[in-house]
Amino acid sequence: MKEKLEQIRREALKKLQETQDLNTLNEIRVSILGKKGELTSIMKGMKDLSPEERPQFGQMVNDVRKNIEEILNETKQALEDAALEKKLKKEVIDVTLPAKKSKIGHKHPNTIALEEIERIFIGMGYEVVEGPEVEYDYYNFEALNIPANHPAKDEQDTFYVNSDIVLRTQTSPIQVRTMEKGKLPIRMIAPGRVFRSDEVDATHSPSFHQIEGMVIDKNVTFADLKGTLQQFAKEMFGEDTKIKFRPHHFPFTEPSAEVDVSCFKCGGKGCRFCKGEGWIEILGCGMVHPHVLEMSNIDPNEYSGFAFGLGLERIALLKYEIDDMRLLYENDIRFLEQF
Ligand SMILES: [Zn+2]
Repeated sequence: MKEKLEQIRREALKKLQETQDLNTLNEIRVSILGKKGELTSIMKGMKDLSPEERPQFGQMVNDVRKNIEEILNETKQALEDAALEKKLKKEVIDVTLPAKKSKIGHKHPNTIALEEIERIFIGMGYEVVEGPEVEYDYYNFEALNIPANHPAKDEQDTFYVNSDIVLRTQTSPIQVRTMEKGKLPIRMIAPGRVFRSDEVDATHSPSFHQIEGMVIDKNVTFADLKGTLQQFAKEMFGEDTKIKFRPHHFPFTEPSAEVDVSCFKCGGKGCRFCKGEGWIEILGCGMVHPHVLEMSNIDPNEYSGFAFGLGLERIALLKYEIDDMRLLYENDIRFLEQF
């Protein structure tokens, strides 16, 4: 049995010397020191020894076990060191290699259009003002001269949070909030997300963006409105762009108009883009209703003003000749990369 023990020791040490990787090392550990390992099974043979020999043999087995464990741990440490060394060598940074090309995204067509519009109006001395998307019914409707029985207030058009609070259906409430602050004159644009309970189709979305503008000062006339929008249209759509006012009705303004620009594709002759009309509708506008001024504590005998509102998506669709609004929201990289 002593010979057998010595043989186990020799073979184990030989195997350990030859092993090259940690997995094999673990297999050796299990096969010798494990519950069903060689050393454990030789211990079972102790019952055949005389009582005097047993403690001596037990001591020998323990010595062999200790010896093998020592060598095993040393080998393990050496293998781990070697593996780390190898890994470090492999991961060395070669600064002469070409850099990884980092892909930077770019602005969404909506953002490009918005920044363009902001640039034009800031150039005319306007301030950009923002307001809450969840808004009181009062600011969204009542203070804008939209009475309780107005069809726009219907639940089919408006998302109600409760009977007093809505998701704003327009950015006009920001104008009321600005007027209420009482700092005159006002020259502002208010861009932002608005909400209507519309079904999604090529020209509708339950969430889209508006930009409203308002000027309030002494002696502001419709001529100022026309000049301002003419200037905007030229800068946005090209120097030769003409504008046309069509009488319309909005509760917030009186008189009110819808504004068309001459088709920047065909110059007004009529083409597929303008559906043969030569004109494209872009916004609504008018002189701020005296009642609206009064509600915000501005004296309509002293002050007057104009306001206008346009859909950001509509401008982006026109400017980039996109025929389906849904494309703006689908986040398809292939589409967005074109701008
Ligand atoms: Zn045209």
